Amino acid sequence: MNRRLKVVIQGAVQGVGFRPFVYRLATALNLTGWVQNTSQGVFIEVEGPEERLEAFLRRLPEEKPPAAVLLSLEYAYLDPVGYKNFRIVKSEETGPKTVLVLPDIATCADCLRELFDPRDRRYRYPFINCTNCGPRFTIIERLPYDRPNTTMRIFPMCPECRREYEDPADRRFHAQPNACPVCGPQLILWSPEGRELARGDEALRRAVEALRAGRIVALKGLGGYQLLVDARNETAVQELRRRKHREEKPFAVMFPSLAVLRQYAEVQDAEARTLQGPEAPIVLLRRRPNAALAPSVAPSNPYVGAMLPYTPLHHLLMHDLGVPVVCTSGNLSDEPIVIDDAEALRKLGPLVDLLLTHNRPIARHADDSVLFFEGPLRVMVRRARGFAPLPILLKQTLPNLLALGPHLKNTIALSQGRRVFLSQHIGDLDTLEARQTLRQVVRDFLRLYDHRPEAVVSDAHPDYFTTHEARRLAEDFGVPHVTVYHHHAHIAACMAENELSNEPVLGLSWDGTGYGTDGTVWGGEVLVADYRDFRRFATLWSFVLPGGERAIREPWRLALALLHEALGPEAAPLDIPGWPAPERQALLLRLLRQGNAGPRTTSCGRLFDGVAALLGLRARVTYEGQAAMMLEWHLDPTEEAYSVEIHEEASGPLRWDWRPMVREILADLRKGVVTSRIAGRFHNTLVRWGVEMARRAGLPRVVLSGGCFQNRYLLRHLRNRLQAEGFRVYVHQQVPPNDGGIALGQIVVAAYRLGA
Ligand code: ZN
Ligand code: ZN
Ligand code: FE
Repeated sequence: MNRRLKVVIQGAVQGVGFRPFVYRLATALNLTGWVQNTSQGVFIEVEGPEERLEAFLRRLPEEKPPAAVLLSLEYAYLDPVGYKNFRIVKSEETGPKTVLVLPDIATCADCLRELFDPRDRRYRYPFINCTNCGPRFTIIERLPYDRPNTTMRIFPMCPECRREYEDPADRRFHAQPNACPVCGPQLILWSPEGRELARGDEALRRAVEALRAGRIVALKGLGGYQLLVDARNETAVQELRRRKHREEKPFAVMFPSLAVLRQYAEVQDAEARTLQGPEAPIVLLRRRPNAALAPSVAPSNPYVGAMLPYTPLHHLLMHDLGVPVVCTSGNLSDEPIVIDDAEALRKLGPLVDLLLTHNRPIARHADDSVLFFEGPLRVMVRRARGFAPLPILLKQTLPNLLALGPHLKNTIALSQGRRVFLSQHIGDLDTLEARQTLRQVVRDFLRLYDHRPEAVVSDAHPDYFTTHEARRLAEDFGVPHVTVYHHHAHIAACMAENELSNEPVLGLSWDGTGYGTDGTVWGGEVLVADYRDFRRFATLWSFVLPGGERAIREPWRLALALLHEALGPEAAPLDIPGWPAPERQALLLRLLRQGNAGPRTTSCGRLFDGVAALLGLRARVTYEGQAAMMLEWHLDPTEEAYSVEIHEEASGPLRWDWRPMVREILADLRKGVVTSRIAGRFHNTLVRWGVEMARRAGLPRVVLSGGCFQNRYLLRHLRNRLQAEGFRVYVHQQVPPNDGGIALGQIVVAAYRLGA
């Protein structure tokens, strides 16, 4: 079946024969569509069979004219619209001209060559860059993008750099961060107390030495400080975990080169291209079974979050070191990444043995982005460095809106015309620091894009920080405050990035937490939705969150809550490794029977957690989603599933009654069925439920969103089964399926409510 591939390119492509090249490539592959060059970037749409679209996407950067530079390449697979031929569309400027702030761009091949060329004047200079690469988003203080408006303003260019900067024929013509060892930023090595120990190459040499010796080093990166430690040294990695109070949440690893990375993980072509692309994100790769990574890097995790060096400083460090290092955001547990030097000393100093810093200020934070591939689909997990603040380009024109996003994995968004500018990842808003960062990012985005919102949008939860903040901002601006329900925002976000028209879809929002219309926590939702409104078509049989938030950290509580629902008074304490003593279990069961153990929920994420605990995989977790992920990693693929019982009531949504499934799981456990097979059956049962809901709703388009769709097995199998049944299935490609995509949905729903 034909599909349409939408590509948006930022870069230097004017007057270098780029459009004729795109024309030749598209027609050679027998694809229809168009290419257009505008001040907002190069837009390409091509239609044809998926394999040929993939070939187009692969060959585009590989075979481009040598003079063309692609600074970013965003893409999405969409429904075809039936183009008859391929044409070059005239560049006409439509709509208001908005300035585009580029994301930070990984070091280009030319700069890399110079970096390691002993005859070059920038040999081993950690801040080498050019018009085609280097920092952007993280150094821009205000627009227009000129050196005096960046954090590079404190470094007057030397005559040689100035000459390059002013020479239209030079690769560094108007390269705003242009610098050299004579005039630019310098490396500095600090002791944890902030005593200067060394500068320049000596600083780098000593940091490398320390890492080799198993020490922990804080590195001032592009969008914030990072914490580094030898990824093969178990004692050292454990020490980092101990000091950072981060027990098991996986660490990302930076590898010296693709060749070294291949020794540790399987790397498919698309993954390799992405790792080496201008965005250079963290890509979740399947580990090789005997990879020599320290077990504590990502305990019991079959994947590794891998990245390659993306700044000259990382290149030098990794080149000299030659071994993979843990490379994780420099922050205290759930706070935002540290960008300020004084704060780095105060907060990170006590955690590290050395700080490798420099004197180029960071204008704003940007964590490393995280994504993975599921077949040809790119699934975002965290959208930040390399992507933010590039806009998501929509089909519809929107009013100027500001959306403050979700409570967890927060990002904010602004709309202007057809563009939605989604902020970099901000994080969970439980800490004061994160809330301050949100306020900063809001101010920053409003100023950067000279934006005056016509409404301020937030979640419908009455007590979220973002709700209060949105009300306050709306009052300040004298504009309406619009609230949007969490799961509606999930589905609308996915609809929008897939360019769906405003007709009802079936939206599966399978997620951890989202405030529902009845004031309870929803999460296993099946909605009939359009952009404006939604109806709860189906949900899960609800269960108790024993102890509220505590249930998230202690899934054994959830397992008992499931048992209580499934067995009633017959539910009894279980003998499962890691679970508390029978008396404590009995205590909770008593509370459950009395009906005051906690609030009820339909959370799909918590259902995963509870089943994981029941299988003895995990009684307590140290980060959100851990038990659910372990259930996925544990599963043995099978065709079998448990029975799916659907309750139909006189009014209200259909309910998937999972209680028979829990009873069947218990029976399997008693029979001694291996838990990996039970885990497989459980996943298939969810697939079966999703397919059954699609059949009953009878809507041709099914939209998948919510954190549960970071589960590869669930995503792959549900998508395949629905497609096999003739449904058109839409998933996220540009924004995360988790709450990182909520702000986009809030914008779109609010736009329709306000009459877009
Ligand atoms: Zn360069
Ligand atoms: Zn210079
Ligand atoms: Fe969510």
